[in-house]
Amino acid sequence: MRENKEIILVENLEFGYPAGDFHLNIPEFRIQEFEKIGVIGPSGSGKTTLLNLLAGILLPLKGEIFIGDQMIPGLTDGDRRDFRISQIGFVFQDFQLIDYLSILDNILHPYRITKALKLTANVRTRAIDLARDMGIEDKLYRHPGDLSQGEKQRAAICRALLHRPKLLLADEATGNLDPANKVLILELLFRQIQQSGSTLVAVTHDVELLKYFDRVIDFKAFYKKETM
Ligand code: ADP
Ligand code: MG
Repeated sequence: MRENKEIILVENLEFGYPAGDFHLNIPEFRIQEFEKIGVIGPSGSGKTTLLNLLAGILLPLKGEIFIGDQMIPGLTDGDRRDFRISQIGFVFQDFQLIDYLSILDNILHPYRITKALKLTANVRTRAIDLARDMGIEDKLYRHPGDLSQGEKQRAAICRALLHRPKLLLADEATGNLDPANKVLILELLFRQIQQSGSTLVAVTHDVELLKYFDRVIDFKAFYKKETM
């Protein structure tokens, strides 16, 4: 156990994609449990890349990434996937909803692809309650193709919140919503993570929303574009 109840600890992280010259170098990045962190930074500075590293979707070249007591790069591919699906909620920038599934089945999907989560009647009820809170209850039996960008985004948020993740990673989660809905959805999101005792790391372009967060991390500091 480490002191201070850190939920995220990144040290000496180095990452580069196999193709291209983008290089991410993060000497240290710490988030305490229950913090609500806003992450800002120029487009292309690696915000999405960092969320993918935290979620174990990408692996670093070097360095340590702990989520709670779990050292993410040390896990096998399968264990990393189970850890991500059961412990982390991820609102992807491009939603990553599955076109051939209904919205309800999309929201329930994490429960169908890992043994670490158990789909019960209560979970189904909670999915419907979340959809109602997010204002998409009438869309539950439609497919993603029939929904607006904002509605898809709400569905993606419901899916990420359903299992009350310890850590919620949100990539521009309010990016497709109109100003009134943005604040409304953010408040709903905050209420949910408060109830679940989750920590939030949210990438946003929206300076107006920054006042809602406990702390803001500017990504510029980590950004180093190398010329080849
Ligand atoms: P941000 O989310 O801050 O806009 P990203 O993390 O999406 O930035 O991207 C950081 C950089 O990495 C960009 O220059 C982008 O073009 C590059 N990049 C993203 N994905 C890949 C990939 N799969 N292969 C090579 N380069 C990539
Ligand atoms: Mg991005």
